[in-house]
Order: sequence, then C-alpha cells, then structure tokens
Amino acid sequence: MTRWLTTFPDSQAFEMALKGLEQAALAAEVIRPEPKYRLVGAPALVVDDEGRDFLGEKRDLTCSGWVEYRPTERPVPDEEPPIFSEDVFGRAAIMVLAPCVADETRIRLIAHITGDMAEVFPYLNAVMETASYIKSAPVLTFMDGYRMISLSPRRITVARADEIVDAWRVLEMIRYQVNRVWQQRATIQPSDALRQRPPALEILKRLPRTNCRACGEPTCTAFACKVYEGASSIEQCKAVFGGKYGYLKEALLEVCRGLGAITEKDSVKKGIKEE
Ligand code: SF4
Repeated sequence: MTRWLTTFPDSQAFEMALKGLEQAALAAEVIRPEPKYRLVGAPALVVDDEGRDFLGEKRDLTCSGWVEYRPTERPVPDEEPPIFSEDVFGRAAIMVLAPCVADETRIRLIAHITGDMAEVFPYLNAVMETASYIKSAPVLTFMDGYRMISLSPRRITVARADEIVDAWRVLEMIRYQVNRVWQQRATIQPSDALRQRPPALEILKRLPRTNCRACGEPTCTAFACKVYEGASSIEQCKAVFGGKYGYLKEALLEVCRGLGAITEKDSVKKGIKEE
C-alpha cells in the first residue's frame, strides 16, 4: 500500500488537516521540523490512500502537494536554529511539493520567504564560487550535491531533494548562509560577475544532442548555454517541442525551472504552468 506525504504552507493548515483526520478516525504520522528547521517549514503528514482522498476533498484546506513517502535517514537536529539580529530571510513556507519529473524517487519544491534576498545576491555571488548569478533576473543558482537550487528575491526552488527532512535541511542551510553573508557584508566585495556556468550542462544533458540546428544554433551545447543565459527560450528546441523527442519535454521544463531559466513571467507569457 502506498503511503503519501504532504506538507503545508503554515502550521495552521497542518493543525486543521490533523484535526480533520483525527475526527474521521484516519491514521496519520506526523513529521515535525522542530527544533532545528522550525523557521523553514510546517509539519508534514504521512497518510494512506484514504487519508489522501479525505484531505483532497476538503476545499477549505491548502496543502503544498503530494509525494510518495520515503522514510528519512537523517533526523532533525536537536538544536535551535541560529537567530540573526539582521534577518533578511525571515521564514520559509513550502508552497509547492511534487515528485521530480526526471527522478521520481526525489522531490522538488517551491518555497516562499517572508524576507527579501535581492540585496544579498551580489555578496553571495562573491563568496559562492560555484554559484551563478543573473543580475537582470535576478536569480542565483547553485548545486548542493545533486540538488539544484535557484534563488529569486522571495522564492526558492529546490529540485532533487531526497525527502522532506532533506528539503528542510536545504532551506535552513540557505537561511543561515543568506543571513551570515549579509551580517559579514562589510568585509565582502560584492560581485555581479556572471561566471561560466556548469549548470547549463544540466540542460544539455536533457536535450536530444543531435545538433540538428532546428533551434537556429549550431550545436545543442550552444543552445543550452543560450537558454541558461536567458537569451533563448527552451521551446525553440523544435526536436522536443513539436518533434519526435517530445518525451524529454517535462524533464527539460523542470530543469529550466530549477535553474531559473524559466522565470515566473516567462511561464505566464508562454502558458507554461508551474503546477
Ligand atoms: S533543436 Fe534541439 S536537438 Fe536540434 S540542435 Fe537545437 S537543441 Fe539540439
């Protein structure tokens, strides 16, 4: 029997869901982010098919989405999160939770924060040697192992997290790093430099790699770089969008979202739905 995991934008929604399940005598396991991750997530619920159907029918309840439950191998650390006197991050709320398109054993999420990271990006860009920063977006992307992380001023996209505790760990790591760098900004020379970006390879890996030139570029590598730079739209790959490689479409859209190569504005403009 499949067990499902969901989480919520806030604790109030979680409490409402738990109460409803209890009143309906439906079993639920609770996974809590406290203490260490209490600023970056609300508790998660694990339920069976019946519990999922029950919550799905509650119109007054907003959950972030559903993924197949996989037990975590990492406990939530038994310590409070560090508090910063100048907190530019605030709190994070997971608004979207879904399986990764390219790897269904992992999860992807979109979190919104109450703070604003825009002014921190040039400082993060200066100290994170593997990050890439597109000032005009503005978007800062980097990898945490195999996880792809994209930061907008008030939004975080994480692709390929292991499970919910790993997702909270990543969000807390970002919260800490953003606030720490902001605290140390007097000692850091901010940088708007756009580095050569290995993340473009993540796009290339998902293209057909036939170098057919239908997109107007001489090679798939050149096209991947242009998409990552925001100079071309991923939909210009005719082999995938309208051609015989259509099965690569979802994986490409997901990696582009994860890397910030599809902005919210583009998604609306092109009718690409985020969820
Ligand atoms: S259209 Fe797609 S497959 Fe053809 S060259 Fe461009 S990126 Fe490669």
